[in-house]
Amino acid sequence: MRVISVVGLSKSGKTTTIEEIIKELKRRNYSVGTIKEIHFHGFKMDVEGTNTHRHRMAGAGTVTARGDSETDIMYDHKLDVNTILSYYAEDFVIMEGVRDTSAPKIITASDEEGIEAKWDDTVFAISGVISTSLKEYKNLPVIDGLTRIEELVDLIEKVAMSPLPDVDRDCCSVCGYSCTELSERILKGISKREDCVIDDLSTTLTINGKKIYMVPFVEKILRNTILGVAKELKGYSHKGEISICIKR
Ligand code: SF4
Repeated sequence: MRVISVVGLSKSGKTTTIEEIIKELKRRNYSVGTIKEIHFHGFKMDVEGTNTHRHRMAGAGTVTARGDSETDIMYDHKLDVNTILSYYAEDFVIMEGVRDTSAPKIITASDEEGIEAKWDDTVFAISGVISTSLKEYKNLPVIDGLTRIEELVDLIEKVAMSPLPDVDRDCCSVCGYSCTELSERILKGISKREDCVIDDLSTTLTINGKKIYMVPFVEKILRNTILGVAKELKGYSHKGEISICIKR
């Protein structure tokens, strides 16, 4: 799965640009998922009076509305982006308005102030309303998603990458940088996605089938603890894999 985020002020062309990106990716036979950040404080899908709302009011945590054409699972709290992404299996996920991620970003803007308002070093292109009047900004291409979508999606295919773990710098800086700094370096072509060592750790942890990221420090504790116990057991072999399943 490869991920990007499209960020921009209101009415700058985010959703229109994303619609065109989705259509072009689909035309190229990719599966596509999306995540939309809602900035409206207090936003809720569920409305007062529905049965699912009554379930929530009665104290339910996760509530699911299961219909013939749609299934909506509603959590009672905001999930972090990588947790949400772990439920996706599409080739590409396009996020709208998500900024708390190291994923490469497109800014949509109406003017240069709009670009600056969302600027950071994980941005690889500009699009939206401003692209009819500007061709380049700070050495980044400005591409109109309505008239040059193939060019924009060529670029997305080139830079979109599987999400970095986005852990705190205090927890991991094994690559020599923070996750966001590594993402910036990958975009500049001076580091590679493989420089994040987390995917290569020899101990993996899954909970309900979902892979849980562990920073090297935690992986070492888990690995040494399990190996320390396993070594004392009859049948232990120092070769091959060890699997543990904890049922709750
Ligand atoms: S090694 Fe991976 S998880 Fe650790 S800081 Fe670098 S990018 Fe982040």
